[in-house]
Amino acid sequence: MELFDPRTYLLVTNLLGVLCALVLWVQARSFPEEIKGLRDWAKAVGLIAFASGFSALRGILPSLLTVVAASALFLFGQLWVIVGLLRYCGRPVVWRPAVDIIGALLIVIVGLTYGSEHYQGRLFLMALAHIVFSAFGAYLAWQAQPRGFGSRFLCSFFVLGLLVAVYRIATLPSVTDRMDDLFDQGLIQQLYLGFFSLGVLGLSIGFILLANERLRVDLEFMATRDPMTGALNRRAFSGRAKVEWSRSQRTRQPLAAVTMDIDFFKKVNDTHGHHVGDQVIKDFCQRTGQMLRVPDVLARFGGEEFVILLPDTGLAEARQVAERIRKEIAKQRVKSLPAYTISLGVAVAQAGSGNPENIDALLALADERLYQAKERGRNRVEA
Ligand code: GH3
Ligand code: MG
Ligand code: MG
Repeated sequence: MELFDPRTYLLVTNLLGVLCALVLWVQARSFPEEIKGLRDWAKAVGLIAFASGFSALRGILPSLLTVVAASALFLFGQLWVIVGLLRYCGRPVVWRPAVDIIGALLIVIVGLTYGSEHYQGRLFLMALAHIVFSAFGAYLAWQAQPRGFGSRFLCSFFVLGLLVAVYRIATLPSVTDRMDDLFDQGLIQQLYLGFFSLGVLGLSIGFILLANERLRVDLEFMATRDPMTGALNRRAFSGRAKVEWSRSQRTRQPLAAVTMDIDFFKKVNDTHGHHVGDQVIKDFCQRTGQMLRVPDVLARFGGEEFVILLPDTGLAEARQVAERIRKEIAKQRVKSLPAYTISLGVAVAQAGSGNPENIDALLALADERLYQAKERGRNRVEA
């Protein structure tokens, strides 16, 4: 049964692939360097596009181009897809074994083209390579961050490719000697080629979706987080604080604020250097973060000053939290860092009391108490 003309859609795949490669290349150029893999995918899709183009000319150009070169382009294209995914996921790339295997495959394919003309054997080898490639691709796409729609979309295209290749191998016995080239008009072969064309487009869209999602997550992180500690920055905190304030007014639940400042931090910098100072700030942030609940908000206000918002928390409980943090920080957990302490100020707004009148007044009150803690000897909580 003749469903499509294979030559036509192999040529269409060629053009489509070149366009997709171009889009990926343009994206690669405009994306930040930290998002790796896009250039590799652009090359990969380009190689597969030309593999498809050469295959389309089977019977017109010599087999060296339409079989051997096409297979080589296709196999290296698949390899480059995997390389791109590995780089995107920040994993090491090991070229050697893959290139050796592809080289060996190509030698066999040359044998099956010029030695004993064996269409079935070639088809088997290419489908087998496709299965290995799709399985590895599906695994990497599933692992790729962020695990949103892009990752799932890409993964499903790899799985689809895998199923089609398995199906192709399972139906190989139906290939007769009569069908001695790519353009056998069997329905199975047509489906195989059809899915292959779809795959080029699907993978390209998947790569673009994935990289765009990563870009969005990265930009969001940069806009809302302090790069050194990962805590919320002042601007993002201010947004969250407004939300928490109005929520506490509505639900009539208390809202606590704890401000914290590392004691004698200038001395840490002066004695051990700025780098160690940075490590201390990170250590403080990490250990404090671990002691908080999910709804609690930790933000870096500047230098070595931090603030925590504790929703639905009254004065006694907030003081306990602050005391627990103070005690934990005073313990020297990382031996390579100097011991240090912090001072904390705690303030609570009881909704409906009208005191303090807004979130800024609450934070100012906590700050005032922090300075009291400093004045009264440091390494203490004032509430
Ligand atoms: P106090 O107990 O009164 O808080 O004394 P202190 O020495 O900690 O005084 P203060 O809080 O005013 O010191 C802040 C110092 O923190 C000054 C600044 O050089 C340093 N600092 C601010 N940001 C950073 C940073 O990102 N890394 C490092 N290493 N130091 C910082
Ligand atoms: Mg300080
Ligand atoms: Mg300070």
